[in-house]
Amino acid sequence: MPLSADQQAEIDAARAEAQTTLRATAPGMEKHLYHAAPVLDHGFVRVVDYMGDDNAICQAARVSYGRGTKSVSNDEGLIRYLMRHWHSTPFEMCEIKLHVKLPVFVARQWIRHRTANVNEYSARYSILDREFYIPAPDSLAAQSATNNQGRGEALEGPEAQRVLDWLREDATRAYDHYEAMISTDGQQGLARELARMNLPANIYTQWYWKTDLHNLLHFLRLRADAHAQYEIRVYAEAIGEMVRDWVPFAYKAFEDYRMGGATLSAGALDCIRRMLKGEEVTQENSGMSKGEWREFQGVIQIG
Ligand SMILES: Cc1cc2nc3c(=O)[nH]c(=O)nc-3n(C[C@H](O)[C@H](O)[C@H](O)COP(=O)(O)OP(=O)(O)OC[C@H]3O[C@@H](n4cnc5c(N)ncnc54)[C@H](O)[C@@H]3O)c2cc1C
Repeated sequence: MPLSADQQAEIDAARAEAQTTLRATAPGMEKHLYHAAPVLDHGFVRVVDYMGDDNAICQAARVSYGRGTKSVSNDEGLIRYLMRHWHSTPFEMCEIKLHVKLPVFVARQWIRHRTANVNEYSARYSILDREFYIPAPDSLAAQSATNNQGRGEALEGPEAQRVLDWLREDATRAYDHYEAMISTDGQQGLARELARMNLPANIYTQWYWKTDLHNLLHFLRLRADAHAQYEIRVYAEAIGEMVRDWVPFAYKAFEDYRMGGATLSAGALDCIRRMLKGEEVTQENSGMSKGEWREFQGVIQIG
């Protein structure tokens, strides 16, 4: 259950308080405001606030006096041009503020994205909830045999059950001890800031996370990628759906040039030119290492 009844009531009350504004609003994003998109077993992402839309990107690029809009095709063309040529500052004119509930081990990856403003739930001040991420059976995977930083096939049978039991039992025992340590019932009670060190990395934390569209797209490029860990990827994918509705032209250009595009080295481009001339290019005569060649084959989908 990502949100308690009280939390949902607070959000619903905020949603009921509509106000008129002269500010530009994005109709696609308005529908996400004050809705929590569930992620993993207890997590969520919800848009608390946002600023700007596709027009704001064009407005800044043209340093315009008005809304900056010329025509729909003109605006989309401009946004694609900016994305293609890494003219990134107009994208920084759009901002988003998210409320995210996520396991601590996911938060450790997420916080590496430094170009954001973050305020996390204080476990010195407050008591953390008894909520732990327990992977769904199909996400409970073995270590990958080919990728040291990845997972392979799902665990099966008694091994899967044993792992799930340990995850649940260890988290429950650690939380029981956390509660017992901070209790003031017949004892002084350990400070919350100390008792929390006993909690497992799959416990949930929460934060407000604010960033601009340029840095958000960079985050999505890295974390919605197939190589990102599943547990952060699902958050990135949920945010991606929101961004698609918020700035449809920018998101489409991002999908085209960044998510779906690829960067090729000078050597790789030379190989493609040789292939187009009919030369048989192999790893041995490509000038690439085995790893580079494997990735190159993945990009151009040959071999
Ligand atoms: C698949 C994957 C595996 C990873 N594995 C590891 C790992 O094993 N160990 C590990 O420690 N990390 C790992 N990371 C984290 C990674 O190294 C980055 O820290 C993280 O992705 C944040 O990227 P960023 O610095 O570009 O983002 P941000 O911090 O948001 O920065 C955005 C951009 O701003 C600029 N910038 C920000 N701060 C500075 C600065 N101080 N100096 C110069 N330029 C700056 C850079 O251009 C940067 O790209 C991994 C990330 C991914 C996606």
